[in-house]
Amino acid sequence: MKRFDVYIIIAVVAISGFLLAMFAMQPNDNQEVIISLKGEEYARIDMDGQEHVFEIETQLGYNKIIVDKDGVHIEEADCPDHDCVEVGTISKVGQSIICAPHYLVIEIVGSADADLDGMAI
Ligand SMILES: [Zn+2]
Repeated sequence: MKRFDVYIIIAVVAISGFLLAMFAMQPNDNQEVIISLKGEEYARIDMDGQEHVFEIETQLGYNKIIVDKDGVHIEEADCPDHDCVEVGTISKVGQSIICAPHYLVIEIVGSADADLDGMAI
């Protein structure tokens, strides 16, 4: 019975350690924001908690994009529908904001390398 208890303790400690490692391996700063214009990458920003402001002006129009600790949002735009502004803030991998009239796409992606490192433990 004693030996059985020891195995349980070892298992619990191992599982806690594994869970802690999993949490440590998924910091938000593995996320990147990709801004594309007309299907081409315009900028790629690390979501590092700092504020980054992009003012993009093309012949199609103007968008002011803010990347900060809360996520990404379009602060101002001169497109006719303002859908992109109304989307609000996105903050999760896979979410995107599209300003169709300006051919502007903003998406949040995860770092694939970091995911692979986490799996290799
Ligand atoms: Zn728009």
